[in-house]
Amino acid sequence: MQDKPIAKDEILKELEDIHKLDYDYADGRILGSMCTEAHPFAKEVYCKFLDTNLGDPGLFKGTKFIENEVIKSIGELLSLDNAYGNIVTGGTEANIMAIRAARNHARKYKGITDGEIIIPESAHFSFKKAADMLNLKIVEAKLDENYKIDVDALKNVISDKTIAIVAIAGTTELGLIDPIKEISEIAFENNIYFHVDAAFGGFSIPFLKKLGYDLPVFDFSLPGVCSITVDPHKMGLAPIPAGGIIFRKEEYLDVMAVDSPYLTVKTQSTIVGTRLGASTVATYAIMKYFGKQGYCRIADELMNNTKYLYDGLNEIGYDVVCEPELNIVAFNHPDLDTNDFAQKLEEKDWKVSVAKCPIAIRIVLMNHIKKSHLKELLEDLKEIY
Ligand SMILES: *Cc1c(COP(=O)(O)O)cnc(C)c1O
Repeated sequence: MQDKPIAKDEILKELEDIHKLDYDYADGRILGSMCTEAHPFAKEVYCKFLDTNLGDPGLFKGTKFIENEVIKSIGELLSLDNAYGNIVTGGTEANIMAIRAARNHARKYKGITDGEIIIPESAHFSFKKAADMLNLKIVEAKLDENYKIDVDALKNVISDKTIAIVAIAGTTELGLIDPIKEISEIAFENNIYFHVDAAFGGFSIPFLKKLGYDLPVFDFSLPGVCSITVDPHKMGLAPIPAGGIIFRKEEYLDVMAVDSPYLTVKTQSTIVGTRLGASTVATYAIMKYFGKQGYCRIADELMNNTKYLYDGLNEIGYDVVCEPELNIVAFNHPDLDTNDFAQKLEEKDWKVSVAKCPIAIRIVLMNHIKKSHLKELLEDLKEIY
């Protein structure tokens, strides 16, 4: 830090210059991100609540009330009448909380001290962090030829040490939904904690189903489901950081509670102590602003764009990995190696990402990608082909 104060204008000028190094969603060149620009109204609300601290809810009773309301609303979207949980920093923290709840629950009620979690090969890397921090062993469930959990393979890896099974509603790489109903039954019969990671799909599947899209059940209407992760900062259009963790029962929060002596409440179950209220209130506001109708319209639009890209790629002759269930399309060039292909797209200033399972270019049709951008992209893809 320099000794003397610097004038605001000068600082802002410097920051503006540096900010130019960042890509802007509005340019439509970011094709591989699951985040997007937050809605302007959500940003406006966010700024008004910047000083609120949900870590000390006795001091911020209003903001805490709003968090409870948001959890209730998201719970209802997921077919749960009495939801418990928190708005946290994102899908990663939500998943870590779910696994921590499962671990503590199994420790308390089953005496398991060296637990294992079963996650699909397609799981988000946040579960590796969770397992590392919580001292759990990861057991991978194989995928079938459609890149979804192979239910028989899953059954075979369940053991006395299994403290949780994880399935995904909207995989990070392909946007696919695992056979959650079947897995819920297995988890229920075996009395094993079942977590559904709908970080990506949570703000679209319920709306697409409402519109009549043929998607499987993935939520709390299945009795085996104990918790669900949903990210408002993806298709929910809330500002970062906003992830949601929803629990079926309060006891899952209770098993994580530690004493919090100097605060206005006696215990705390979240990982983070001081915790932003702004993104929670912004989530509340944007959910009110759109309502189910608004989110249905958005989800439908994203799927239309997905279909447009999918059809365009097939028309040119690209190898599309699978028919999209949500707004992700993964594909390969018939001849080029995937990384070389990605390089060619980078040269044309498209920010793409490469999926690992299977290796493919992956495009997430987020809200900032418009038809006009897709037209331009398909033109470039024609040229590269
Ligand atoms: C995005 C995503 C995550 C991680 O969420 P962050 O908000 O980046 O922490 C976890 N799981 C799935 C399925 C995701 O799509």
